[in-house]
Amino acid sequence: MLEAAQIIDGKKISTEIKEELKKKISGFLTVSDENHLDERFSRPPCLAVILVGDDPASHYYVSSKEKSCEAVGIKSIKKIMAVSISKEELLQQIAEFNKDDGIDGILLQLPLPDHLREFTQDIVDSISVDKDVDGLTTANLGRLLSNSKSAIHPCTPKGCMELLKRYGIKTEAKRVLVIGRSTLVGLPISILLNQANATVIMAHSRTANLEEECKNADIIVAAIGKPNYIQGSWLKPGAVVIDVGINAVMQVQADGSELKKIVGDVDFKTASEKASFITPVPGGVGLMTVAMLLSNTMELYLRKIS
Ligand code: NAP
Repeated sequence: MLEAAQIIDGKKISTEIKEELKKKISGFLTVSDENHLDERFSRPPCLAVILVGDDPASHYYVSSKEKSCEAVGIKSIKKIMAVSISKEELLQQIAEFNKDDGIDGILLQLPLPDHLREFTQDIVDSISVDKDVDGLTTANLGRLLSNSKSAIHPCTPKGCMELLKRYGIKTEAKRVLVIGRSTLVGLPISILLNQANATVIMAHSRTANLEEECKNADIIVAAIGKPNYIQGSWLKPGAVVIDVGINAVMQVQADGSELKKIVGDVDFKTASEKASFITPVPGGVGLMTVAMLLSNTMELYLRKIS
């Protein structure tokens, strides 16, 4: 009989990463001896976040990013813009942040309101590649594709890779199924896994037999946005499961009331009986995304001042 899967603890790893960053930042900014004052580090790293509209989930994510910045010593600037703003007004704001020498990273919180959504990639592309903390500009994705050292790895895919690394899970020569092909998650993680010498198969909504693909995979990365979709019975025994999905569902309680719950794309209960390692939702990849945002801000800061 298989043992229950080991939990890949995103909370623990993201806390470790934040502690590492905090130490580094306070180390830069502390001047113990005037003779060793390094003027390059005269200010902390700085992240600017633009949030358009009043979507509660986006406001929640932005405030948790702000708190995390503060906890590690990164300065954060938040610009909230009205839901009705035009594309030109948003581009103008991004241009101002691009010009501001005190800002290292610019994050545009997605999704944009409906009237701007079709322009999302154009708007993201107006962020200077040197400040593209989310790594989602076309210029940065090109760098990623060509395996350039100058590429910033998009936060969620980078978080997944970091979890695999810190749990000692090898990707070389492994058959990895990435389910979902979005520019935000599925596509960049497929590129990173390929560069880490995995044999990558990408699945999407037109894949003929997803269950069969799952049965052949050593590692599954699920990023489709469908609650509890992937079943434990689909997994190869001992598979590693990285669940990127964040889905809100209503669950009926014993007293008949309904409670909102966050679940992943993988049915955790059945999958954890079959997998060797699995990320929980919440407590897995989501927390790593924020940690990687901080890590990318730090990386852009160091590039700027060095
Ligand atoms: P998305 O842009 O909607 O893309 C979904 C992808 O899943 C598409 O490629 C789609 O295929 C594919 N798909 C949909 N239904 C499928 C099915 N039944 N079988 C196989 N593939 C299917 O979503 P996303 O932005 O990548 O996000 C995916 C999930 O990750 C969401 O739950 C989101 O909330 C979550 N997420 C989490 C984090 C985090 O920090 N943990 C960060 C970002 C996103 P087609 O291309 O054929 O349409």
